[in-house]
Amino acid sequence: MRLDIFTLFPEMFPAVLGHSIVGRARRRGHLQLCVHQLRDFSPDPRGRVDGTVFGGGKGMLLAAEPFAQGLDQLGEHLGLRPHILYMSPRGPVLNQKTARRLAEKPALAILCGHYEGVDQRLLDEYEVEEVSIGDYVLTGGELPAMILADAVSRMLPGVLADESCFTDESHFSGLLEYPQYTRPEVWRGRAAPEVLLSGHHGKIEAWRREQSLAVTQRNRPDLYQAWLKNQGQGT
Ligand code: SAM
Repeated sequence: MRLDIFTLFPEMFPAVLGHSIVGRARRRGHLQLCVHQLRDFSPDPRGRVDGTVFGGGKGMLLAAEPFAQGLDQLGEHLGLRPHILYMSPRGPVLNQKTARRLAEKPALAILCGHYEGVDQRLLDEYEVEEVSIGDYVLTGGELPAMILADAVSRMLPGVLADESCFTDESHFSGLLEYPQYTRPEVWRGRAAPEVLLSGHHGKIEAWRREQSLAVTQRNRPDLYQAWLKNQGQGT
């Protein structure tokens, strides 16, 4: 996948997207990541990218043109128009299903907002998909873009050892993951569940399923109800 990010703070990205699984995905060629300085596409000689908000209000707004210039140049360079995302607290909240859908795109471009956000006309003109990372407001779109890039990258073919690395995880099936344990078998007087050391795969699977349902019901009743409904047992 080709992933282009447009931001006022490109220097924020290497620390997060240069290491661990995403860093390895880049080195192995599964992910081609390019982070662009938005000011480089400003028509203003001093690199200005913002303006006051029409109609009044505090704060500045990012103008449409620098992003548009960046996207047009990118489109020409790639010979295709990437699917464009704008990190925004107004968008539907990112979930595993969305990450999986986005992982199937050959090219993504992520626009990072700042200040009050970006001129609406850019979003309309380029049919941009807005994505939020949660119901709270951050200073800029950089952390959300890194979160989205991480969630999408680990689902690209070949990045994890095999698909079960993410199909067995929380949120894939609609349920949260069961508790897990490692050495030692007894830690500070707490023994790992006996069944997990039994070597009996059927019993282990049944225990994990039961735990997965219990954790989901306790921690995320909303997900549990949705899962029940999906199973045709909704209340
Ligand atoms: N005025 C905007 C509003 O009320 O919707 C908030 C602007 S916020 C201070 C600046 C930028 O941070 C946004 O343009 C967006 O790119 C990013 N941002 C903030 N919270 C976010 C969230 N929950 N999810 C994704 N992006 C977010």
